[in-house]
Amino acid sequence: MQAHAALQAEGGALRTPDERSAAPSSPSPSTASAFPIPAPATVNLLRPTVPLKRPDPSPVTPPQDGEDRRQVLVGSFILEYVLRRSPRRSIGFMVDDNGLRVTAPKRCSLADIENAIRAKQNWILTKLDERRERRAARLDKPPLEWKDGAKLPYLGSEITLRLYHAPRNRTDFNPATNELAMGLVQGATELLLKERVKNWYKQQAEGLFAQRLDLYAPRVGVQYASFSLSSADSRWGSCTVQRVIRLNWKLMYFSLPLIDYVVAHELAHIHEMNHSPRFWAHVERVYPQYEEAKQLLRRRSQELPVLFP
Ligand SMILES: [Zn+2]
Repeated sequence: MQAHAALQAEGGALRTPDERSAAPSSPSPSTASAFPIPAPATVNLLRPTVPLKRPDPSPVTPPQDGEDRRQVLVGSFILEYVLRRSPRRSIGFMVDDNGLRVTAPKRCSLADIENAIRAKQNWILTKLDERRERRAARLDKPPLEWKDGAKLPYLGSEITLRLYHAPRNRTDFNPATNELAMGLVQGATELLLKERVKNWYKQQAEGLFAQRLDLYAPRVGVQYASFSLSSADSRWGSCTVQRVIRLNWKLMYFSLPLIDYVVAHELAHIHEMNHSPRFWAHVERVYPQYEEAKQLLRRRSQELPVLFP
């Protein structure tokens, strides 16, 4: 989580305004644009002292090490939040699948922070409620059945999983039939199968993302230092001041234009480590339809099944 905080501070992260929302009045440039990944429903930090209207579909995750996890009484709720100190001058709020995160100046007192939370409570509770509803909707979807004939999202379309017994494990993708054939040894588990499918996605991602980055970098007019895949992130991409780009391999679920949008977006951060109009001008120059892509990416993210929780 520390690394994320760093990236966030640098303003290079790509998240969704909807899924990972910054409070309207907290002018944090790094939260201006953001994209969700279909994270499994794992956590609900809104622990009520009285029962909520709606049952909570998700278990509460144990706190992660090193996180400053706190509670504040807001109306009849005990609101849990993670507090981060930063050099910024104002208190910032963000709601994502992990609940509420508050970023406050180093010298800001806890009382001031709690007052700020209370002042923002309507926005915070609404956002947490939206998250909870979405998680519930995701959980309502039947999970993918890992069997022969299963449909997997791939580059904006679907591929069919073909399973057969083989003397040794092997993976073959046939682009003509859009079939991903997995030879499985006797006794192979579903866990192993999922691991191998995931690895296949990652391999494809490595090749495709490198190709797209090399295509777009000269168009954007930048050179990136290196790129790597991310996965457990709750973001689609990020870029550091060292020009290191990370792209989430789950982008492979989406069509190429959406992948290109994220690629162009992260490369543009090499010019501007923020989401200022100047940044968007760089994006627009190479990707004029970026507004549409932004919306579409957000919609697609919400529709996705959770394949690898
Ligand atoms: Zn960005």
